[in-house]
Amino acid sequence: MSGIHNIVILTGAGVSAESGLGTFRGPGGLWEGHRVEDICTPEALARNRDLVLDFYDQRRAALATVKPNAAHEALARLDCEWPGELLIVTQNVDDLHERAGATRLLHMHGELMSSLCEACGARAGYGGSMLDGTLCGSCGAADTLRPDIVFFGEMPYEMDRIDRALSRADLFLSIGTSGAVYPAAGFVRSARHFGAQTLELNLDPSEGSFFFHESRMGAASELVPEWVGELLAARD
Ligand code: NAD
Ligand code: ZN
Repeated sequence: MSGIHNIVILTGAGVSAESGLGTFRGPGGLWEGHRVEDICTPEALARNRDLVLDFYDQRRAALATVKPNAAHEALARLDCEWPGELLIVTQNVDDLHERAGATRLLHMHGELMSSLCEACGARAGYGGSMLDGTLCGSCGAADTLRPDIVFFGEMPYEMDRIDRALSRADLFLSIGTSGAVYPAAGFVRSARHFGAQTLELNLDPSEGSFFFHESRMGAASELVPEWVGELLAARD
């Protein structure tokens, strides 16, 4: 593992599964009992606003009942100790990476603990229910706050920064993601194109396993601490 300085780590719902948060395509292909097209699209929000707001209210409330697991903690340790460039790009909308202590982190699909105002575009930290008519703190409009979540068909956050990091990466790691949601599913090919080594850690082979130099199968809470230990031990 010599010659590795710049690392990009992509995480998905699998990294939070052992903390008790359901994955996207859990049993029956549903996310917490709902079809994703009924919840995670701008059309669903327009058609059935209260259902969508209530769904995300429940996901936000559930965060108070869970805590980071050994995988989040190992990545936070790596973030703290790694002397080179490092960026954790999470598809997760939970806050478990930051609660474990990670700081070099971006949420490409938004965050449960944030609101987005449809009137003025302001994003702001948000902890309560969105069904209670809270006014936007920036423009004062009523009933314009929605979850700050990137729905299908919307542009993920910070793609420029992600592309820059991928183009500089010596190592790209993907953890707990099904490789089904683009553009994240394409990051492994970008990273390889720019010469990075690529490694996948997942419970079972993802749709994109084929694109990785190496795949290790198992639970994130075991594989991630093991891998972080190896990497830090072999540091240049
Ligand atoms: P996904 O549900 O499509 O895939 C999860 C992957 O994790 C699967 O391949 C599964 O085999 C693997 N996995 C499950 N348990 C694991 C474990 N203990 N250890 C290692 N791997 C495990 O999730 P995704 O690819 O992240 O889907 C993307 C969308 O789901 C994102 O846009 C995200 O916003 C949304 N989502 C987020 C959360 C969250 O924030 N915790 C939860 C559900 C869905
Ligand atoms: Zn506003």
